[in-house]
Amino acid sequence: MITLDLNGKTLTGELVVKDGTVVIGNGTLRSSDIGYAVTAKGESTLILDGKAKVVGNKGVCVSESSRIILKNADISVVNIAAACENSTAYAELTIKGAKLKVTGGAASDCAVKWNSSAILCVESGTVTADGNGIGIQYNKGNVEIKGGVIGGKYALALDGASGSALTVSGGELRGTAAAVYDMGNDGDVRIVGGLIKGTADGAFAAESGFSGSVKVLGGNFDETVPKEYLQKGEYISELDKNSETYYVIAHTHTYEGGRYEQFDIGSHNKFCTICGESVREAHVWSDYISDGDTHYRECSLCGRTSMHLKHTEELDEAGNTVCPICNDVIVEAEKPADTAASTEESSKAEENGGCSSVVSGGFAVVLVIMALTAFFGKKRVGAE
Ligand SMILES: [Zn+2]
Ligand SMILES: [Zn+2]
Ligand SMILES: [Zn+2]
Repeated sequence: MITLDLNGKTLTGELVVKDGTVVIGNGTLRSSDIGYAVTAKGESTLILDGKAKVVGNKGVCVSESSRIILKNADISVVNIAAACENSTAYAELTIKGAKLKVTGGAASDCAVKWNSSAILCVESGTVTADGNGIGIQYNKGNVEIKGGVIGGKYALALDGASGSALTVSGGELRGTAAAVYDMGNDGDVRIVGGLIKGTADGAFAAESGFSGSVKVLGGNFDETVPKEYLQKGEYISELDKNSETYYVIAHTHTYEGGRYEQFDIGSHNKFCTICGESVREAHVWSDYISDGDTHYRECSLCGRTSMHLKHTEELDEAGNTVCPICNDVIVEAEKPADTAASTEESSKAEENGGCSSVVSGGFAVVLVIMALTAFFGKKRVGAE
């Protein structure tokens, strides 16, 4: 390990660390107008510690399979404070208590520019950009923000390539415009914790046509999290009255006792009692109900009634005309005549052994008619 004590002096130019572990402190590194003040290459490890200052145009750069650890360093430059270039997936930059700042104020200025497949880990410290500058400009690589404060017009600008991953699990993202600027992302970008605040536009802003490429699973926000960033049906944002921030929590949709809204003859929408999201489903029909002339069904959840249809008519065993669909009796079977005389007669009939006397009475009438026919028939024959 080599320790480079600058003894309060300034080293100007483009310092390159090629091998081993180098610790630089107690002085200032000033970049040239074009290159980085210090670049780590090969498999080297560079540590900026104790009163190390970096000034000029560009700060530090990890490349190849090197590592840079920024401890108590103070990097204040115009254009880019830290970046990775031509790096492998093993290259790594760790920010652990350092201050990184870009002062240029242009939209192209960023405190950290991450566009190579290297690892960036922010544990503590500050990463900020003045004016229109960006805190962390992320294009690809593996990035973890566990702590610290990231700030700029946008704290985080995402333009991610597929296969890359960025996770915010702690710290603060503060944007004077928005905390996260979404320029579209095919990578795996997640917010699982941290405090996310944007002054002018709120937590999220997006380039038109590029929203919802961030998965929000946790964290606290200064505004309710737009639905496109939440895992549909799993996560919701709610206001925490104590901190006046919105937080994101997991839930399972719950419909019982909630609101149902008729949609069409076949379906209704039901609304989750927790997040208010709705889903469409078929009506839950009752049995057929008769209203006299017709029958219909009713949805027990939304109250929708089906079409009113004419009964189907059928005779039951008792001779009633019934509708086999709604079970309504449409016409009752005729009962025997109900007068006092017939009651007396039928009770007599019962004494004589059922209805045989009624039948024999009828038979007697028939015999009389036959006898009369025979009499007049003979008389007519006799007249001729
Ligand atoms: Zn829900
Ligand atoms: Zn319904
Ligand atoms: Zn019916």
